[in-house]
Amino acid sequence: MDEAKFIGRGKAKDIYQRPNGDIVFVFTDRVTAFDGIKKAEYNDKGAICCKLSCFWFEKLQAEGIKTHFKEYVPPNMLVAEDVSILPVEVIARNFLYGSLWKRYKKGEVEINTEFIPEDEKSEGMPLEKSYVEFTTKFERVDRPITEEELIESEWMTKSEIEHLKMETIKVGEIMSPYLSQKGIILADFKLEFGRSKMSGDILLADEVGTPDGCRFWDKEAYERRGEILSLDKDVFRQEKGDLSEVYREVYKRIVD
Ligand code: ADP
Ligand code: MG
Repeated sequence: MDEAKFIGRGKAKDIYQRPNGDIVFVFTDRVTAFDGIKKAEYNDKGAICCKLSCFWFEKLQAEGIKTHFKEYVPPNMLVAEDVSILPVEVIARNFLYGSLWKRYKKGEVEINTEFIPEDEKSEGMPLEKSYVEFTTKFERVDRPITEEELIESEWMTKSEIEHLKMETIKVGEIMSPYLSQKGIILADFKLEFGRSKMSGDILLADEVGTPDGCRFWDKEAYERRGEILSLDKDVFRQEKGDLSEVYREVYKRIVD
């Protein structure tokens, strides 16, 4: 780390750059929610999210997903290729929950029969297939943005959008069955992508498969009792327990 230079601090990670250009992410124990308004620190959170990201990046790369990942440096550092981050976060949802449910109730978004055939819709019900949407990344507060607006504002081309959606669905198709075997439902997840400054390729960037960026639900509780037992950052958002303990449990289920 001595040669790496500090270049910035995100909400959860500190960012350094090596003389060769590689980015070193230091995963801290910081946790934030509600656009950074609610803040805290939880022991081991950084190391757990770092190790989980590295675990998934390796698995995804082995399945042919192009990523920025280069190396895990224990206990809480991830080395990656420097990319130009695309101006959106991509969200894939397998359940009607969180902000999608809130927007649906307010009439701000339609869920057509492709996703839920029944008229009767309820919070936490499963979707027939993954619902992929975008939020802005470089505005003060993240907001949902339509594909039309992305194209009109020339933030992204139609083919870039299609590529991100396809890659995101592939990532979900790799993570979901694996997690299911470990007793975890992948309810939704967020991804970031960037363009390689070397090859121009679009690479999966930031972090992946962590309880910060995914909604993980205990499978047994949902399937047996219809209960949503969160194993993710919702525990912090909704004050449902000790985040360190929940994150340790998630790590144990996924990796050990
Ligand atoms: P944030 O507050 O934006 O969530 P984080 O604490 O997650 O920030 O720190 C990571 C930051 O680094 C994010 O802004 C993310 O977009 C950016 N980033 C992720 N991967 C790369 C990469 N390979 N190259 C450059 N920047 C990246
Ligand atoms: Mg982040």
